[in-house]
Amino acid sequence: MTSRHREKTTVNLEEWVPRTRLGKMIQAGKITSIEEVFLSGMKISEPQIVDSLIPDIQEEVINVNLVQKQTDAGEKSRFKAIVAVGNRDGYIGLGSGKASQVRNAIEKAAVSARLNIAPVKRGCGSWECGCGKPHSVPFQVEGKCGGVRVVIVPGPRGLGLVSSEVSKTILGLAGVKDLWMRSYGSTRTVPSYACAVFDALKKTYSLITTADWVK
Ligand SMILES: [Zn+2]
Repeated sequence: MTSRHREKTTVNLEEWVPRTRLGKMIQAGKITSIEEVFLSGMKISEPQIVDSLIPDIQEEVINVNLVQKQTDAGEKSRFKAIVAVGNRDGYIGLGSGKASQVRNAIEKAAVSARLNIAPVKRGCGSWECGCGKPHSVPFQVEGKCGGVRVVIVPGPRGLGLVSSEVSKTILGLAGVKDLWMRSYGSTRTVPSYACAVFDALKKTYSLITTADWVK
């Protein structure tokens, strides 16, 4: 199964009873933006936190695999789903979930993606462009995951995403537009490849302190 857009079904905000300090602060209106959450350094342990602060969050199913596992009772089949979430404006999350039904695996992955949400620093890192607008990444970044390595090279405005369909989906949800993607290793292993792209996007903030997150 390849990437497809789906309606959000995972998170029901109306029935949300926060069980973490951060969740309670958000429901009480003491924290009103996702930027404040990352500045506070508090961990996101409830998916509803993401949906309250990013109401227009979108989900894409990146991959669903059948996973066979040998147990004492014989062979057991489960589905493993990879889901990406993002607001197409500087926030991206990626997560996985396993279940005996596809739908449940996707829902678990969608929750996990929310709990892994991270800010993406955007910029114009292209020496050919120099427009200064946040249409790409600010500098070259590298990501690694399970035998896959990717390098994101900033591109000039109007270039588009020169990359595979899977990374286009993830980069689109993150809100970056113009770049070249180079990949090495077992790039046909979609879960590892998606994870490496996510890792590279998170690296846009690795050289910057938390104080820069709001800029
Ligand atoms: Zn530019």
